[in-house]
Amino acid sequence: MASNPFSSAMTQLERAAKIINLEPYILDILKRPVRILETGIPVKMDDGSTKIFQAYRVQYNDARGPFKGGIRFHPDADLDEVKALAFWMAIKCAVVNVPFGGGKGGITVEPKSLSLRELQRLSRGWVRAFARYLGPKKDVPAPDVYTNPTVMGWMADEFGQVVGEWQPAAFTGKPIALGGSQGRTEATGQGGFLVVEALVKKLNLNKEKTTVAVQGFGNVGFYVAKKLHDAGYSVIAVSDSKGGILDKRNHGMDPENVMKSKKEKGLIDGCYCAGTVCDCENYQKISNAELLEMEVDILIPAALENVITLENAGRVKAKAIVEMANGPTTPEADEIFKQKNIVVVPDVLANAGGVTVSYFEWVQNNIGEAWKREEVLDKLKPIMENSFEEVWGVSIEKKINLRTAAYALALQRIAEAIKARGL
Ligand code: NAD
Repeated sequence: MASNPFSSAMTQLERAAKIINLEPYILDILKRPVRILETGIPVKMDDGSTKIFQAYRVQYNDARGPFKGGIRFHPDADLDEVKALAFWMAIKCAVVNVPFGGGKGGITVEPKSLSLRELQRLSRGWVRAFARYLGPKKDVPAPDVYTNPTVMGWMADEFGQVVGEWQPAAFTGKPIALGGSQGRTEATGQGGFLVVEALVKKLNLNKEKTTVAVQGFGNVGFYVAKKLHDAGYSVIAVSDSKGGILDKRNHGMDPENVMKSKKEKGLIDGCYCAGTVCDCENYQKISNAELLEMEVDILIPAALENVITLENAGRVKAKAIVEMANGPTTPEADEIFKQKNIVVVPDVLANAGGVTVSYFEWVQNNIGEAWKREEVLDKLKPIMENSFEEVWGVSIEKKINLRTAAYALALQRIAEAIKARGL
């Protein structure tokens, strides 16, 4: 049976709450969202028919600041998934200490089956449905799986029309032309790269000899793979929803070329092409399941949740896992990794570069500035490095894994805010 992501999230919460003796009333507050918004969005389809799409916004906790979190368009998006993702956002914002709470949105839809016009109508419909609960000081959405700057541009525009004024700080991950931040698109990957660099130092690995496999080749998977490749790591396998490729020579592939091939042919598997030169001998097709179980130093899940479970965790051979997806590892799999001494850098730390630069975007919009890419990436670096050090320190001090350490740190910060409000 597939794991329920919200049950996993609550198991993780309880494990950490116990370690830090979290007050029972605070644990109770954090076991449920502040608000669940749910509706059907009617969309006029190109063929003249009307379809209703199930849509959600879960506002989990806002003790530390406005709710913050992406919107996912996916056929499997459901309330439990959105609740789990919203909870993880609250933890994540506290781990990197940005002044936001946690929220998440979703629409149950196969976005690839919609035309661009239908997708725009659906995106605008989501905003109209929830607009009264959104805004720069209330709840600030961003992109997630199968949403992107284009979608955020439509949404920010719709929000401005509904409330009667342009409020760029209401959405992050927007196109640059609408007040998006330089560096936001690559931010999650950049943050993951910085985390890998810090981890490699702790594990005394030599990066020139460090092999990496990345599951998921969307925004996050592509950028983390590219940055690792550029820094000298060997990215020996990548995959997307249709399958993956493995470099049989352990050389490492150039993610830019894989992306070109994906854009040209719609597939990354099969042959590997650098420009027009295709190398079909050295690259072998692999499945997503095979990628997760490869002999590799660092495994990076960067697709969806619940891909490493009780069923396959025992076969994972990586030395370390850096979770760029949200919720890829179930609590049962975590237990196995503890026994096998496989280090797991949790999602709430590893992929927090995205929300950190979203925070920078919100700040820039609020004060009417536009920072340069270098400035943004320079500001991101110490936040990721210090957060990694803090989590690592708690993990050593309390003899707990990095996930529980990250939660412990975050829960203390959230609890402090709840108490400071005098609730
Ligand atoms: P995306 O839509 O750009 O890419 C998703 C990728 O996953 C695609 O390459 C898709 O083909 C692949 N995929 C889907 N199903 C798969 C499967 N069953 N097996 C293997 N690959 C599969 O999404 P994204 O923004 O890159 O998000 C990926 C993960 O990172 C999600 O868990 C998301 O919540 C998380 N995340 C994203 C951001 C961000 O800034 N975009 C920030 C933090 C966390």
